[in-house]
Amino acid sequence: MSSTNGDRQPVAIEVQGLHKSYAGVTVLDGINISVKPGEIFLIMGPSGSGKSVLLRQIAGLETPTAGQVRIDGMDPSLEETRDKVALALVFQSGALFNSMTVFDNLALYPREHRLHTESVIREKVMEALQMLSLTKAVAKFPSELSGGMKKRVAIARALVMQPQILLYDEPTSELDPIMGATIAEIIASLRKEIAVTTIVVSHDRDLAMTIADRVSIIMHGRIKTEGTPDELRASKDPEIVDFLNPTINLENPRFRNMEASNE
Ligand code: ADP
Ligand code: MG
Repeated sequence: MSSTNGDRQPVAIEVQGLHKSYAGVTVLDGINISVKPGEIFLIMGPSGSGKSVLLRQIAGLETPTAGQVRIDGMDPSLEETRDKVALALVFQSGALFNSMTVFDNLALYPREHRLHTESVIREKVMEALQMLSLTKAVAKFPSELSGGMKKRVAIARALVMQPQILLYDEPTSELDPIMGATIAEIIASLRKEIAVTTIVVSHDRDLAMTIADRVSIIMHGRIKTEGTPDELRASKDPEIVDFLNPTINLENPRFRNMEASNE
């Protein structure tokens, strides 16, 4: 383990019988996931299948309608859990503040929570930027950055929190394949460099099949199947074969969660 994450240990994530509905409309219908400490776990599913909703329950930003999430045995929606386990979510949009430089975006959380002195914050911010080859962008504003750089800044900002759990929502969306591959390498290398348990939700098959220890496919609000990339490739289930076929569009209505779809 490198010094980046101090003495922290990666933790396990358990999702048990999770249901989530909004105004009576079911989005997640009994999800069970068990992620081991230090693992990279991919949740793949078509657009609208409930991936972002699931990530919000795991991050403790929302509470399940039924069932539970446990990180290191604790409920992520409780403040005392957040004091004990450092969890960072990399939002699909990046969620950077446009009025702030890259440096100030990264320093915002530790400054607001008075986690360190200003000089220690500077050290941690620069260390995170260095890990993502972003030191030259330190004084830039988000509007001056490419889509790929914004994603990297969003990841660097998560690293400043010294997370034991890193959750990524569609980290390669809107990126060209080369930048997508770079982000995949970053996610894989961070797992080696810091002691972190990683969940990635994505509909990017290449990402899933290259970096995941295990992949879970979510359809219609349920886990359709789960396995290593090799196990999925060997699957004879026609729906999974189609799902992994690069010529088939995941926007295809038969993959969508019809019940929850509001179109
Ligand atoms: P994706 O797999 O593309 O990330 P989402 O998790 O964003 O899909 O959404 C799954 C379904 O849940 C969609 O039909 C969406 O409209 C619905 N949904 C998500 N968030 C809410 C909400 N806050 N209120 C009502 N419906 C929601
Ligand atoms: Mg989403």
